[in-house]
Amino acid sequence: MGIVVQKYGGSSVADAVGIKRVAQRIVNTKKQGHDVVVVVSAMGDTTDELIDLANEVTPLPPARELDMLLTAGERISMAVLAMAIQTLGYEARSFTGSQAGVITDAEHGKAKIIDVRPGRILGAVADGAIAIVAGFQGVSQTTKDITTLGRGGSDTTAVALAVALEADVCEIYSDVDGIFTADPRIEPRARKIPRISYEETLEMAAQGAKILHLRCVEYARRYDMPIHVRSSFSEREGTWVVKDPQAGVAQESLMESAIITGVAHDRSQAKITVVGVPDKVGEAAAIFRAIADAQINIDMIVQNVSAAATGLTDISFTLPRGEGQMAMAALAKLQSTVGYERLGYDDSVGKVSVVGAGMSTSPGISARFFESLSEAGVNIEMISTSEIRVSVVVSETQVEAAVNAAHAAFELGTDEVEAVVYGGTGR
Ligand code: ASP
Ligand code: MG
Repeated sequence: MGIVVQKYGGSSVADAVGIKRVAQRIVNTKKQGHDVVVVVSAMGDTTDELIDLANEVTPLPPARELDMLLTAGERISMAVLAMAIQTLGYEARSFTGSQAGVITDAEHGKAKIIDVRPGRILGAVADGAIAIVAGFQGVSQTTKDITTLGRGGSDTTAVALAVALEADVCEIYSDVDGIFTADPRIEPRARKIPRISYEETLEMAAQGAKILHLRCVEYARRYDMPIHVRSSFSEREGTWVVKDPQAGVAQESLMESAIITGVAHDRSQAKITVVGVPDKVGEAAAIFRAIADAQINIDMIVQNVSAAATGLTDISFTLPRGEGQMAMAALAKLQSTVGYERLGYDDSVGKVSVVGAGMSTSPGISARFFESLSEAGVNIEMISTSEIRVSVVVSETQVEAAVNAAHAAFELGTDEVEAVVYGGTGR
């Protein structure tokens, strides 16, 4: 049997009890005859606590030192997990990201993996040991400094290792049983999705569903690495993220009319409106150049038709809330050159999206979605679409109502209680 890569998230290893439980699971997989390579996240909310600690010392922690600090979280869990496995009579060796050969670029806090050279991992596996790798970290090829991959990045470590080791599957364990048609924390009727495509998972993750790190899904798609998302608290089959979810599935068990796969929501965004922009060539270019130069990723953009009388228009866009003030500062510098009237900032917004590969071939999805929102009394502030997604921005207070309305409108719910949330804080 081949190599299995298993990744355990922070909620699965939140305390000593959790670590022992995970150690037992790993050993069970080993007993089945697999070679096991484990990627582990920091225990519980350790990463958040380390960030808080840094912020108590300085409001702007230097990026290099912050990365050094944060990688300590995963180093704690990997060492303790290796100890727990050894008490069960199996050999385990822990490795930092850098020891595991995770080579990245030099972008602290959001480093990209550029190569994986898993020589030491293969050595451990050849010796019959279980290799435990600290997630979410690597070492820069150029500066040789320790880097982190961004919040939630252990998923990406796991898939990258699985690809480099030519593993059969990358199993990602968290505190829910898989990927659901909506977040079970706000939609009690959410149903587990048995199989889902990389594309749909990417859209769901990009639209705020806290299922998998976005880059991990991109990586898995590029190398066609199957991901099995499941709970470390139960033995249930989870969700398979694969290239072709319908392949090999008996025709009669294919969910009919599953045009919409799921509803995602995101409360981490803010909306900026540039009010009274002169309607002439180059204004939008100047505005978004300033945002781009500040290294800020934007999401939706809406530009209104300019009012004939004034020749002025409004441009609104959404962006991650954490970058809102930086964007406002960048735009403030443009007021005299662009000549807009004023800036508006709103961080009490949320985004709700319906995602489904079947959407591109069936008309009326937007109408049904918007009708459900209107019946629920939810006002739409912005709209955007892709081939397999329709998203709206609504007031943050209406996010939950919007998710419930869309979930019902597309008949995604189940009457049996399927979704069990075993622990954690929803990260
Ligand atoms: N511990 C890191 C975080 O919380 C990485 C991870 O959990 O994937 O973001
Ligand atoms: Mg974490």
